[in-house]
Amino acid sequence: MMVQSGNPPTTPVSVPGSAGAALRGRLLVNEPMARHTSWRVGGPADRVYVPADIDDLAAFLRTLSPEEPIHWVGLGSNLLVRDRGVRGTVILTSGALSGLALLDETRVRAEAGVPSAKVARFCATHGLGGAEFLAGIPGTVGGALAMNAGAFGGEFWNLVEAVETLDRRGERRTRQASEYAVGYRSVKSPAAEWFVAAHLKLVRGEHAQARALIKSLLARRGATQPTQMPNAGSVFKNPPGDHAARLIEAAGLKGATVGGACVSELHANFIVNAGNATAADIEELIEHVRATVELRFGVRLETEVRVIGE
Ligand SMILES: Cc1cc2nc3c(=O)[nH]c(=O)nc-3n(C[C@H](O)[C@H](O)[C@H](O)COP(=O)(O)OP(=O)(O)OC[C@H]3O[C@@H](n4cnc5c(N)ncnc54)[C@H](O)[C@@H]3O)c2cc1C
Repeated sequence: MMVQSGNPPTTPVSVPGSAGAALRGRLLVNEPMARHTSWRVGGPADRVYVPADIDDLAAFLRTLSPEEPIHWVGLGSNLLVRDRGVRGTVILTSGALSGLALLDETRVRAEAGVPSAKVARFCATHGLGGAEFLAGIPGTVGGALAMNAGAFGGEFWNLVEAVETLDRRGERRTRQASEYAVGYRSVKSPAAEWFVAAHLKLVRGEHAQARALIKSLLARRGATQPTQMPNAGSVFKNPPGDHAARLIEAAGLKGATVGGACVSELHANFIVNAGNATAADIEELIEHVRATVELRFGVRLETEVRVIGE
């Protein structure tokens, strides 16, 4: 295993897993999480492990003590990491668990670290329809599984037949989609496990048709979302029967700022990092938006983004 330290550790760190000479991944010590989140904010994680593959990750998990806090991160596109960083170990799947293959004529196996957009293109290339909506979601398959990511009427779990999981003892299982309670941006797992791969069921379609659909969906996004500035997509879930963006705009919050964090002028449910935002700025702005909308309309918005760290 390779151990790297991006920054000199500020406190002495004991490196779990260092005894496991057979490990093939990379261990980053005191790694700034701002490098791994789309908001480009977040303090250091004590340890970040980038596995070589699923077997290597299972072996690494077996070396951790039962008390070690573990956080899984894909592309960090739905994640606010606080400024003082994350205690424990972050498992980084992006760029690591990258297997993507056809299982048969209409089924695809995608590992957790594969970008969702790559799945969309892979399916289109193989004349498979149904995954086009994933093209503009800038996360991984693992993140899409955890969040039930969706867009333009499509939801990730509508494609899922089965998933492969690991638990903290490094045990690997295959589970059927029916074992999960899935809703709007919500997935309840039957056990304390993380996702390492998804088996997706697509429909036979036309290569050219799928490509054209991807192109038009991406164009629609480009016109309605602040894609040039760091953000994490929709900050709040839509409340039943309404849109968070509509409520935020109606409360006069477009353009509201805290430090370097700003409610997007283009899409009111996006908060952008206008250059030098801290995680604390973003979190304060989230709470300001929530409180203002609740005061004006009596609706308490629930965050879609996940917040971790100190
Ligand atoms: C510009 C922009 C547009 C977006 N548009 C959309 C959209 O249209 N629809 C939509 O649904 N989302 C959208 N998002 C949000 C985000 O891209 C999705 O939620 C995405 O699926 C998150 O994937 P990720 O790999 O970045 O997850 P991360 O942000 O890394 O993690 C999110 C959560 O998933 C968990 N997680 C990650 N990997 C695993 C794993 N392997 N096993 C278990 N848990 C895991 C993490 O612990 C965390 O709780 C957008 C974001 C941006 C920046």
